[in-house]
Amino acid sequence: MQPLASSTWYADVRYRGVVRLIACAILETAQGLLLVDPGPDISLGTLKADLKAGGVEMEDVYGLLLTHIHLDHAGAVGSIVRAHPHIRVYVHKRGARHMIRPARLLASAARIYGDRMQSLWGDVVPTPEANVHVLHGGECLQFGNRTLHVRYTPGHASHHVCYLDESTGTAFVGDTAGMLIMGTRYVVPVAPPPDINLELWRTSMAQLRVWDPDVLFATHFGPSLDVAWHLLHAEERLDAWAMAVRTSLAEEGNDAARAQRFHEQEMARAYAELSESFRRPYEIMGQPRESWYGLARYWRKTL
Ligand SMILES: [Zn+2]
Repeated sequence: MQPLASSTWYADVRYRGVVRLIACAILETAQGLLLVDPGPDISLGTLKADLKAGGVEMEDVYGLLLTHIHLDHAGAVGSIVRAHPHIRVYVHKRGARHMIRPARLLASAARIYGDRMQSLWGDVVPTPEANVHVLHGGECLQFGNRTLHVRYTPGHASHHVCYLDESTGTAFVGDTAGMLIMGTRYVVPVAPPPDINLELWRTSMAQLRVWDPDVLFATHFGPSLDVAWHLLHAEERLDAWAMAVRTSLAEEGNDAARAQRFHEQEMARAYAELSESFRRPYEIMGQPRESWYGLARYWRKTL
């Protein structure tokens, strides 16, 4: 567990052995621990080991705060609640039903990952409805003397929310502000299918500016202290990717060829700017190829 702010830490779940890819934030409250985005099932062992090294365990957890339900953020939730039935799960209303009955979520993910589902994500089990605390956005969640504001932030996903911890000024933003390659100034969007919506996404980023947090905490990966720069850069990159994908739709060939060309262009940029160890977390996410499909789907619905 790495310190993040007062009574706040984060764990690197070391997804598939890769460091600085998926982070879970840990908040201490009078009611117990809160975990923001516990990550996928297959890295649950690493998360537990990291908690234990920090002197705590899952039994000490009061609630799981989900930014959204994608498997890299929330795949482990059902398994955690099955083993610790006291744990409450906070999730936006549009995501809640898919935590309770994950069949559609899994079918959607299987369209991207095919027969690699089990090896990439492990078991995704239903979360009992009684454990689910439905969020709408606009709530102030009170945990002892700790107040967390909830904002509905669609764009990356139709059920995405962000949390602002009033006591530390830290905003837990999931994938709303893209992916930061930790230790660099490299920020890129994460835009997989199926719900990318550019207008909503820009509005969500503008709402993060209104919060004016001291720290942005991105699931991929970690704290970002230069908030204004980060949001500006994330927005510029999203616009650039969106225009590049839109232009590519008129190019010859099929979608696989268009996605591949976009991927190669973006990876060339990453190769020019990032050294090997920093590129690794970026490549393992399947980015930017997946983002081509997410943005192409958006344009085809919109144009
Ligand atoms: Zn993600």
